[in-house]
Amino acid sequence: MEKLIITIAPTGNVPTKELNPHSPLTTQEIVEDIKKCQKLGASIAHIHVRDENLKPTSDRNLFKGVIDRLDEEKIDIIKQLSTGARGGENTVDWRGQMLDLNVEMASLATGSSNFASSVNANSPQLIRALAKKMYDNNIKPEIEAFDVAMIHNAVKFLKKGILKGPLHFNLVMNVPGSIPGTPKNLMFMVDSLPPGSTWSVCGIGYSQVQIITMSILLGGHVRTGLEDVLKMTDGSLATNELLVKRVVRIANELGREIATTDEARKILGLA
Ligand code: MG
Repeated sequence: MEKLIITIAPTGNVPTKELNPHSPLTTQEIVEDIKKCQKLGASIAHIHVRDENLKPTSDRNLFKGVIDRLDEEKIDIIKQLSTGARGGENTVDWRGQMLDLNVEMASLATGSSNFASSVNANSPQLIRALAKKMYDNNIKPEIEAFDVAMIHNAVKFLKKGILKGPLHFNLVMNVPGSIPGTPKNLMFMVDSLPPGSTWSVCGIGYSQVQIITMSILLGGHVRTGLEDVLKMTDGSLATNELLVKRVVRIANELGREIATTDEARKILGLA
C-alpha cells in the first residue's frame, strides 16, 4: 500500500480559545503548531487564517505572513490554502485573493451544502473561476467533497477540462448539514471517485477516529487537527500534536508507513 499522507488542519473557522485554549489563531501560533506537527509526520498543512478580532478571513496578507514564516524557518511541508466559504465576502476576488502566493495546493469545494449556521455556497461560476486561478498559478486543487454530489460535480468539471486529472479529494464527513461520517457512507464516497484519484478523509467530531482508521485500511490518506475535532475520545481537550500522534499510532498498529513530504509530493504528482 502507498505510504500515508497526513494533513494537519490546525485552525479552521470554528475553533476559539473558549472552545479549546490550544487552538492556534495568530500567525505565530499557527506556524508553531505546523512546525511541531511536521516533525511528527504531517506532510501537508491545510491553512486558515484569522483577522485581528480572531475572525476567519481570506486576507492575502495574513496568509502571506504564515507562508513567509514557514519558508523562513525552512519547514518542509506542502502548504495548502483554504478558499472556503467562511472567510468573509463570497466572491472569487475575495476568496481567491491568496492564490498568487507561492504554494503547492489549495482547497476547492465543488458544490454547495449547509454548515451548522451558514451556507457553504459555491456556485458553478465561482468553482470554475477559482479552479482557473489555481491552475494559472500552478496550484493543485484539493477537491473538498462534503457529499457525493460534489464528487459527481468534480467528474463533470474534469470531463469539461475545468479540472485536470488525476484529481485529489478530501472527503469531508460529518459536518452538520453534510454527509454523516459512517463506514457505509465512506465506502459509497470512495466507490464514487473517478479512477486514478488520490483521496483523503476528514471526519468531524466524534466520527474522526473511525473514519481515519477506515481510510488507513482502505489505502486513503487522512486529515486531522483542531479544525476537525476539539476533543480526544475520552473527552479531554485535543491539541494538534496529540491528534497527529494518534494518527501515527493507529497507522503503526495497522502497518501503514507514513509518507515524508517529498513522498507525499510524488504521490500527489506535485514534484
Ligand atoms: Mg478548511
